[in-house]
Amino acid sequence: MLIIPLMCPGHLIPMVDMAKLLAQQSVTVTIVITPRNAERYGSVLDRAIASGLPIHIFQLRFPTTENGLPNGCESIDDLPTFSLAKNFYGASAMLQKPLEDGFNELKPRPSCIISDKHLSWTADVAEKFQLPWVIFDGMSCFTQLATHNLCVSKVHEHMAESEPFVLPGLPDKITMTKSQLPLLFNSGNSARGKELNSIREKIRATELGAYGIIINSFEELEKRYIDEYRKIKQGRVWCIGPFSNSNENDLDKAQRGSNEPINNHYCLKWLDSQHKSSVIYACLGSLTRLTPPQFIELALGLEDSKIPFILVVKGGSRTDEIEKWLVEDGYENRLKGRGVLVRGWAPQVLILSHSAVGAFLTHCGWNSTIEGICAGLPMITWPQFAEQFYNERLAVQVAGTGVEVGAKRAMQLEDEDGVGIQVKRDDVCNAATRVISEGPEAETRREKAKYFKEMAEKVLEEGGSSQLNLKLFIQDIMLHTNKGIAG
Ligand code: UDP
Repeated sequence: MLIIPLMCPGHLIPMVDMAKLLAQQSVTVTIVITPRNAERYGSVLDRAIASGLPIHIFQLRFPTTENGLPNGCESIDDLPTFSLAKNFYGASAMLQKPLEDGFNELKPRPSCIISDKHLSWTADVAEKFQLPWVIFDGMSCFTQLATHNLCVSKVHEHMAESEPFVLPGLPDKITMTKSQLPLLFNSGNSARGKELNSIREKIRATELGAYGIIINSFEELEKRYIDEYRKIKQGRVWCIGPFSNSNENDLDKAQRGSNEPINNHYCLKWLDSQHKSSVIYACLGSLTRLTPPQFIELALGLEDSKIPFILVVKGGSRTDEIEKWLVEDGYENRLKGRGVLVRGWAPQVLILSHSAVGAFLTHCGWNSTIEGICAGLPMITWPQFAEQFYNERLAVQVAGTGVEVGAKRAMQLEDEDGVGIQVKRDDVCNAATRVISEGPEAETRREKAKYFKEMAEKVLEEGGSSQLNLKLFIQDIMLHTNKGIAG
């Protein structure tokens, strides 16, 4: 199978995990990757290959300079500004020709392409070589179903921005506002919004022609949503997650998305000194860049809660302002062992699995959401953009393991000035206190979280639902290939 990821951590990380899961079933897998990403994800891949897994790497140069991107900028989280997202997609599309040129060198010849759905051009590659085009977009069946139903019903089109309405056709009564929907349904009127939306619409149209879809989720987490979505997709929905559980040793967990040997990271040492389930881990994914005023509210809210915490501080165009505040306000000094700031990349899955961590403050990217669920942690949910408000609803209402921080509207990732202060320090402090508290409500949430962790541990074992789906997927592709040969 040929795996073609979008070069972005939230997409590449799970696709590397997926490559391992397939290879563990003796499927020969080739993963397309660019040089900088080969470095970044290389340690994990090299270890998998050295352990005997049939994984090959197909390296293609990423055409940065031709597309107005800085040299070496091969991942969306490396973009100096998200206004270059369109250039990044342009560069990604230029991988088509070298991929097609090199296709016949792939041994054995792939019987299927599994591509990130955002790379619409890979559908043409699949057609050219007469292969089934299976997509992966790193989102839940809840999201897939909600998106499908909105595309069909268009109920949101008649809603005012902040008017709550029930999402149509879902197994639970889920209420949202138009301003919380992904940008496909709410692109605004700016020229850039419209331009990006035309890319999104093309992706959506192409996606409808996919042979099937692989989902990083598992039956026990969102069964009714999976069942409904399967009806729409003629059954070809394979939930083979949680992918992060494919990383068994600490080094693989630590190096997901980074080639640094960070399993002895200082924050892990600090966690060793903390009480069981006492710490909040706060990280808003790889792409979110809070504005300095919004970051300050988050930082102060955590401080006010008096709960020990780890806060991940991401780089970005306004990092200097954040760093200045951290010094001038004396924030970092004040923490004095009660909190730790991690600048840059945090070994998230390893941190989440540490027994001292008691809750996860997350932006509800799907990877982070499912990683939090697999770690058995209650979550403080602060969705930022894309489908993250759906994931919040899934965590809070369906799984019952999340508490909302109170975000009201989705941002445009490209809108680097943000939408003002959405969440105040009191909101952060209150949600954190509710989650960590010892009352019955928090206890029930912890029990539910523990239940999902136990489920997640079983599904990829022999006889587990995801293991079964993995086998069904491979069988389906083999049957399809054999039919093609016979025909
Ligand atoms: N991640 C990490 N360390 C960080 C930030 C993110 O390991 O400092 C990983 C995280 O574990 C997850 C992925 O990056 O696997 C982020 O994906 P997600 O879908 O949660 O959010 P996105 O970054 O796409 O918004």
